[in-house]
Amino acid sequence: MINSTKNKKELHAWLKKYFKKINEKLVEPPRLLGETSKYNAQQEEFEQLAQMLISRMFKAMLHPKEIKFSLVVNEISNAWAIWPADFYAVLVTTALAKNIQETCGQVETLMRQGERLPTGEPNLMRDLWSGMPYENRDYESFGGLLAHIAYAFVVHHELAHIGLGHEAILGGILSSNANSIIEEEVLALDESRMCAPAAQNADGSPSLSGQALEADADLNALAYTIEFMQLQQRKFLEKEVCFDDSQGIVWKDILTNKNKRWFAITAGVAVGLFCLINNFESEKIDALDARSHPPISARVMVMLHAIKIRYLNENPGAPFNLPDTLLFVVTLFGNLHMAKTRKAISIDELIEKFLIKEAVEKFEEIGMHYEKLSTEMKLLDNKRRHLVRFEEYLCWQWYNGKAAGI
Ligand SMILES: [Zn+2]
Repeated sequence: MINSTKNKKELHAWLKKYFKKINEKLVEPPRLLGETSKYNAQQEEFEQLAQMLISRMFKAMLHPKEIKFSLVVNEISNAWAIWPADFYAVLVTTALAKNIQETCGQVETLMRQGERLPTGEPNLMRDLWSGMPYENRDYESFGGLLAHIAYAFVVHHELAHIGLGHEAILGGILSSNANSIIEEEVLALDESRMCAPAAQNADGSPSLSGQALEADADLNALAYTIEFMQLQQRKFLEKEVCFDDSQGIVWKDILTNKNKRWFAITAGVAVGLFCLINNFESEKIDALDARSHPPISARVMVMLHAIKIRYLNENPGAPFNLPDTLLFVVTLFGNLHMAKTRKAISIDELIEKFLIKEAVEKFEEIGMHYEKLSTEMKLLDNKRRHLVRFEEYLCWQWYNGKAAGI
């Protein structure tokens, strides 16, 4: 059981004082999970995973400063990186954790749907399960692995904001937004403002700085997540898994099989990003410059593209099927919709809802937009260098040259 009371006291005090600064819609300080409400098993697992990810990154800090973490009780899918004077903190809402858990909870239904498809037809679900030892059919544990990856990506995204000196740029962005000077100890980055207007340059044009930081956090979070899953792969390679350890068998099989592992990473990252969407109506792929964050579907496309390049670098010429992976992921959301509302939703409707067709059609435009973000990040690089806390190997300069890999 997590003993959070002592650990979270300072965080509680900071939030009590500054909660309006992290989101003006909050009417009271967000409650930290464990303060007044108890963890359920899944929340406890998520919190422990986040603490583990943080302690891993903490060891790679040049001038270590404490990084606190907490799940906060809130109905909106959201995450924050915050910069109080004496520590850093990552906050994830219980709604986001629940969203990830429920979406990945649909893996079992989807895998059983795959079992029922006629033999001889292409079947991603059956391919994923081929070679699974002991005739294991613990699909739930596969869902658990995807949730683990999705959650790790979200936490890594916030850690990238913190470790890569983004506060050096963020202060300026927030000041121009709020038209006031932001005191250093109340800096916060709120991921739910995804559709908020971008800050403005002096000439009134939208600033790309905020989006450049988001791209920096996404791409570095992807690198951290890939590395983290490779570490888990190595652990499983050294470990004998007992025949009655159902979850161990599934995780070992998937993580130690190159293609299955890359599939899980791709699907997990896409789930993590899609679960951040609170309002589908405000997700649009237009006026790309004018928003505080790039649209989620564009971010998913860029992540998938970066994963594909990384995979092909390691496995030249190997097939890498992104459309099937995306279909797998949106079908999870479709099954969840069905489970919650008892109403079916077609694949076409889902593809439209998640703006996938639009993102594919506008992929060139998205690519050009990320080129602009890359140029912006190059300009920002020197301004944040002095505040970078992570060791060099954790600072992926994706914006510098072709070797960056996107
Ligand atoms: Zn962010």
